[in-house]
Amino acid sequence: MLNNLYNHADNPDKSLRSNTLDKKSVQSSEFSKIGKYLRMAFIKLLLPLSVIAADNDFFNTALAQNSTNQTSLQGNMNARAASNQCSDETGNPIGEKLNKAMTDFVSWMREKGYDESIIAQYIQWWSIGSVKDRSIIKNFLEVKKKPENNLKQDNTVYVYDLIPLDPGTTYLSLDQNTCNTCQPTEKWPGWCDERSPQPADYVFVENHFRHTFGVEFDFVYYPMEISYTDVFGKPDCQPRVYKKSNKDTPRCKFKIDPRLLDQFPPHSIVHFAITSFPTEAGPAQIYNHSVSNGNVALVTRTPESFLTIVTYTHEWGHTLGLRHPFVDVKDINKRIFVQLDGIMSNTYARNTKLIDPTDPLERYILEPKNGYLDEPSFVNEYNKHFDTLSNVDQQ
Ligand SMILES: [Zn+2]
Repeated sequence: MLNNLYNHADNPDKSLRSNTLDKKSVQSSEFSKIGKYLRMAFIKLLLPLSVIAADNDFFNTALAQNSTNQTSLQGNMNARAASNQCSDETGNPIGEKLNKAMTDFVSWMREKGYDESIIAQYIQWWSIGSVKDRSIIKNFLEVKKKPENNLKQDNTVYVYDLIPLDPGTTYLSLDQNTCNTCQPTEKWPGWCDERSPQPADYVFVENHFRHTFGVEFDFVYYPMEISYTDVFGKPDCQPRVYKKSNKDTPRCKFKIDPRLLDQFPPHSIVHFAITSFPTEAGPAQIYNHSVSNGNVALVTRTPESFLTIVTYTHEWGHTLGLRHPFVDVKDINKRIFVQLDGIMSNTYARNTKLIDPTDPLERYILEPKNGYLDEPSFVNEYNKHFDTLSNVDQQ
């Protein structure tokens, strides 16, 4: 693992594969940057495993702290069709006045041509929603102040595919030759061609990112062979899964230290290619969840399904500083969303007919300096389909 990482940094032509050949020359400075990260990795991975294991809860704690800032009582997807009842003479609902950041956002939505019913929903969350609703929106608006997290019109994303060397393991990579093909779905017609399904590889994800974010992406693919047990330690394995459909399948989970993710360049995607691990009871499924440490996205599933590809945009959204726009309200046993259809609720909310879009607030705060490449078609599509939730999910 260590030699592999080190050689990977210093001899990119031998060990790296890229989706376009000319990137290798263009990115020599990028390589030296990566070399820095990977040399850091060299040092970090020398940490005794006991030290790494002791810090395993760090990640969960960080995520928990994130979500405790986001409790909400009133924001609700069902309220999104609400009209401007209770309006003052400006057409805005009566309640908390819009501050400058929010006024700018509303003006931006109007300038872009978003439907007034969409705009009214955000005004309502701000004006007559709970303090927590407002704080979710405020958190999003804060991200706009950090230009380093804004999208560019052309974005390079490094994809590290962790191929297991551990004996007896199986894997599915993001490489065109070994991945699955995408699975067509009625929920998203056009997402995957039913007649000739595409390989669900890193290029498929790259195209999906173009669609979702409305800008250009270059995914640079690095398959990396690693021993999972050397890097993450022995997995925690349970003899069986208690779901009826899967009751005899054992499953294993690796402990992930967030510092291991920090060795990769910011906004990278790290993919767990491993799919099964050998145990005494037979091959065990890997059930690590996709996560982000706010810097790098770790995705643990392949992107062939409409349910799994959204984990890529969601976790990558975390690397841009975006948080969850929802909270679980225990009293009413309900998850409350302060967002229309967008990437930060996409793995949690039900789907509209829109194919994994950014919602207006996400789109506003991530807007590249020179604008999106898919205007105004994106807004027209959003206006047309944002309210199809019930039509699709109640089928
Ligand atoms: Zn998340």
